[in-house]
Amino acid sequence: MSGRILVVDDIDANVRLLKAKLEVEYFDVITADNGPDAIALARKAIPDLILLDVMMPGMDGYEVCRKLKDDPRTRHIPVVMVTALDQQENRVEGLQSGADDFLAKPIDDVALFARVRSLLRLKIVMDELRQREASGRALGAINDLLPDAAQEDTPARIMILEDDEHQGQRLSEKLGGDYIHVLTCDPREASERLRTERFDLFIVNLAARGFDGLRLCARIRSDEKGRLMPILALVNGDNRERTVRALDIGVNDILPRPVDKNELVARVHTQLKQKKYVDTLRQSLDASFEMSITDQLTGLHNRRFMKARLDDALARAARGIEPASVMIADVDFFKPVNDTYGHDAGDRVLQELAVRLKANMRAIDVVCRYGGEEFVVVMPGSDDIAALQAAERLRIAVAAEPFALGQNQRSIDITISAGVAQIRAGEDNEAALKRADHALYRAKQDGRNRVVMDEQSIAKTASGQ
Ligand SMILES: [Mg+2]
Repeated sequence: MSGRILVVDDIDANVRLLKAKLEVEYFDVITADNGPDAIALARKAIPDLILLDVMMPGMDGYEVCRKLKDDPRTRHIPVVMVTALDQQENRVEGLQSGADDFLAKPIDDVALFARVRSLLRLKIVMDELRQREASGRALGAINDLLPDAAQEDTPARIMILEDDEHQGQRLSEKLGGDYIHVLTCDPREASERLRTERFDLFIVNLAARGFDGLRLCARIRSDEKGRLMPILALVNGDNRERTVRALDIGVNDILPRPVDKNELVARVHTQLKQKKYVDTLRQSLDASFEMSITDQLTGLHNRRFMKARLDDALARAARGIEPASVMIADVDFFKPVNDTYGHDAGDRVLQELAVRLKANMRAIDVVCRYGGEEFVVVMPGSDDIAALQAAERLRIAVAAEPFALGQNQRSIDITISAGVAQIRAGEDNEAALKRADHALYRAKQDGRNRVVMDEQSIAKTASGQ
């Protein structure tokens, strides 16, 4: 694993020692010997990780960390505080200033590289999400007005797996807070519930005698659903080997036992904050994906999505798996609606038509707004006779009830014309749409408010092929 690491320490010998160690492992190392320089360099070079000395003249490590975490440009960079004073208060203060972890001087190489690898792995996942989100924004598919469920104040759900109930209770009491705690001593129950319910954090005692916590963590990580589940592991303070193994397996954070209440609270807080951020990114990605395949006015699928689904249907038809048909429907005399009642009224008609389309098509049919007042339905599994019946059902449903032009406004009669074609093996989606479109043209020619089947489909039906 490689990456760019910023080393910050006011003592030159410390900087050189860390730099040498990291370069042996092929990390790209940049350095600073004071707080302001470190912040400027972090903004400019955007390292993957920062190793930050706590005790520095002028601006100390806590302040540097707070400034980095307050700045959107550097907020996502993991910070490991390097402290000579391995005191509980310093650790808590560091965590509260936003540090992701701690290392005590003199730095133990094994612990150093385990931490670095663990934080870099997490950062790779985060960078990927951030990048996809940024491109979504650039494409205009994501904006700040999107619903942001992660901002909602639902209490975090935390699963605690401890050796015995008494220990679990004590941990839960120390943790306190506005969280929902689910306590268990059964590793099978824990992994089952983690798989099937929503949890924001999993706290597991790796020193437990009753179960193999490391194995459980490894299994959670290898499962698709547990890949991003934050895990905080409790390890006996002196068990360095287990700490390193846990980090290598993909545990997010380690808390030494005996558990200090403040450190527990601070580390849990850090993990939950991180989880919230990941959830926000993923939700806006989901929303941008949804938007990219949705027609904004009607909520139906858009043309891009329809083409992809039509290609699927064509491929299945070509392989003889199942027939498929396509329908193009168009609102009769739509322009006069806009001209007479205004575009808002026209939009209402299209929205209502979308509702009737959805109501009259099957769940597996792909209903799309093709553009303007034109709609396309891809009907997997339907031959032309079934498609014709479906189109006729829709035509009747549209003509049967007038369309309201808005609340307390008048209603008008609307009709549609539709063309239907069964997809033929070997043709592309343009050809299939063209045949349906040609049938639609004939429906218009023949007087509108009617459904016409593609001529070639009719020929096939007539000859009984
Ligand atoms: Mg110092």
